[in-house]
Amino acid sequence: MTTSEPVAPREEGLYLLLLKDTADAVAGTASLDEALAATVDLVAERLGFDVCSVYLTDERGDLVLAATHGLRPEAVGQVRMPQSEGLTGLVAEGEQALFTSRADEHPRFKFFPETGEERFRSFGGVPLVRRGRCVGVLTVQTVREYRFPANEVVALQTLAGQVVSLIDVKRRLAPSGPGRPATPARGLLVGLGTSPGVGLGRVAALGVDPLRAPPTPRPFAGEAEELLRFARARDAAVRELEVFAAQIEAEHGAAAAAIFRVHEELLRDPDLEARVRARVVEHAEPAEQAVYQAVEEVVAILSGAGPAKVREKADDFRDARAQLLRALGVAAGPAAPDGDGGVVLLAEVLTPAQTAHLDPARVVAIVTQHGSETSHASILARSLGIPAVVAIPDLVASVAEGERLLVDGDNGFVFQDPAPQIEAEYRRRGEAARAAARVVAAELAARAPAGPLVAGVELLANVGLPHELGAAREHGAAGIGLLRTEFFFLQQHAWPTVKEQVAFYRRALQAAPRGPVVVRLLDAGGDKTLPYAPAHDEPNPILGLRSVRFLLSQPEVARAQVEALVEAAALEQADVRVLVPLVTAGWELRAVRELLEEASAARGVPPRPLGMMVEAPSVLYQLEHLLPLADFVSLGTNDLTQYLLAVDRDNELVRQYYSPYHPAVLRALDWLRTRLATEGRRPSVCGEMAGDPLGALALLALGYRTLSVRPRAVLPTRCLVHCVDEAALPALRAEVLAAPTPADVERVLRRALRQAAPFLLEA
Ligand code: PEP
Ligand code: MG
Repeated sequence: MTTSEPVAPREEGLYLLLLKDTADAVAGTASLDEALAATVDLVAERLGFDVCSVYLTDERGDLVLAATHGLRPEAVGQVRMPQSEGLTGLVAEGEQALFTSRADEHPRFKFFPETGEERFRSFGGVPLVRRGRCVGVLTVQTVREYRFPANEVVALQTLAGQVVSLIDVKRRLAPSGPGRPATPARGLLVGLGTSPGVGLGRVAALGVDPLRAPPTPRPFAGEAEELLRFARARDAAVRELEVFAAQIEAEHGAAAAAIFRVHEELLRDPDLEARVRARVVEHAEPAEQAVYQAVEEVVAILSGAGPAKVREKADDFRDARAQLLRALGVAAGPAAPDGDGGVVLLAEVLTPAQTAHLDPARVVAIVTQHGSETSHASILARSLGIPAVVAIPDLVASVAEGERLLVDGDNGFVFQDPAPQIEAEYRRRGEAARAAARVVAAELAARAPAGPLVAGVELLANVGLPHELGAAREHGAAGIGLLRTEFFFLQQHAWPTVKEQVAFYRRALQAAPRGPVVVRLLDAGGDKTLPYAPAHDEPNPILGLRSVRFLLSQPEVARAQVEALVEAAALEQADVRVLVPLVTAGWELRAVRELLEEASAARGVPPRPLGMMVEAPSVLYQLEHLLPLADFVSLGTNDLTQYLLAVDRDNELVRQYYSPYHPAVLRALDWLRTRLATEGRRPSVCGEMAGDPLGALALLALGYRTLSVRPRAVLPTRCLVHCVDEAALPALRAEVLAAPTPADVERVLRRALRQAAPFLLEA
């Protein structure tokens, strides 16, 4: 055993590597005991601690030493302590990490002779919390006095989160004892599960041409319409290539961009156009088929010519065709590789535009090297119902094209080449998840007749894609609190016309639950770049031309959207309300109001209500000027958290800084709700936190009564409303507002939720 007091600051990469190697080591073990032993060895050796141990709680809640590096090996399974004893007990009892350089001076220090730990002076302990329950503690100790650096504390907390999930999986997959199963997977990658569900399939990396097979036939819409679609798609594809080529040229020089210029030329080729026209006119083929076949004709001629150079040209034609087919709306995403299962799409980064074009019938899961929980690509993946794990370190280098992966979007695990036993376990878990959902429904049915205990709550749904509207209705949402129209725009290949938008909004309004439908105006820019919009090379897009700023910079686009909304609302006689994203100045609301009034006057209908999103902290300081300009207020906590805390919500490197449970966020929400109440305003909350049981509980405690959540969260949130004791909310509010850190806030909320509706922690 070595004594060590690291002095040099440790590299951040050391922690990342530790996380990755721990996951790998655990994947290679066959039982929970081995997995824990591998973990404690790695942590102690890599970080130079004299001791690293894991204690697990037994059925009585006592802590039992389960693995150790540095304490007496015989103590494993023997050392047992109630949570009321010692520093480890304190960590479990308070569900709170503890790091101290002088453990022996701490009032809760207790000496356990069985472990021989009197020699250890410094102590760090992190609770292992699984679904709101403390299931154990990870501890580290050093002989010499050691001050734990802040980034190490964060790294150990992240590691604890990983360990707790691994424990869960290992417990189920590989019970120790005789007849142990073999190693369950070739490797285990751990990231952040951002879209729930499980997907099993073979890896295809983004960039693989999906469009080499003939497109699925669709009905012929008439000669004129098909030729128009072709012309529009070609223009859009050419524009997209131009932008792309310019970007590549600026970054890597003209030679690198040459291939895109070639594709651009081919798309403009009059011979190709003539062939497409002939197929539409003479064979009554829809644009997709005509494009596909016309290029096949060209390729057949070129291939016949023989020399390699000419064959290369054929490949260029096929690549250009892929661009054109994409612009015609043929689903992107890789083709299903041969063999069982669908496609697991692998990418370093996945943009919202790429995600919007994925076909959930082909893509069974998404894995990416970067990304975060509230990034729009993740929100879209949830909308599409595609399980996703993001922020997997070294993903691209670790996984090969065609490899078989099982992706667990709930826990953030990716099993490489999983053994049959893992697949079987996950099938069983699917059953368990459905059973948990049934428990929530049964609880709700049992409690609902008594009426809502928290009075006056209104539950609305957030939707991005039209199919979610059906789900919102089925789950009992009282209306739509947020329709993110940019997802529709992201699925287009050119600016949609007023007519196309009217058709889309009408379909949406017909499918929506009865009640208000809050339609948010195009919230593009930032991470949501539309390929057909003018490109701006912004150094800081999240602080740049995004949301309403972007919309108002394209007056014709703004006008067209408002006109289409007014028209669709009038035709459907729906309770449409128009929401403006990322307002920071009164003139933005005035400008949109003007468009709304013009469009309404032209249609001869009264203007629809106009709302403002509170997403920028600056709104809080100019309420007296902004409120008179808005008919309603909706809080976007995703962006509000980002801007209030100065943390990029898409950047996994600063993930630990991003939390809607940060005291600053909660205090801002509390202040705002109180202030709005004095004006007789009742705001709604549509950020992701409203759909999380802990977040919903926090918002109820702070006095919010209108929550807009993703469709799947409507039922659990309704259940929560029936379970919470309204009389206890003021005390909870006080406790939440007094908590000094996000972890403290979460602990307070977890306790309250455990009392009110424990089954929601399992759901
Ligand atoms: C928000 O920011 O909270 C919000 C609802 O908008 P989006 O997540 O689409 O940015
Ligand atoms: Mg937002």
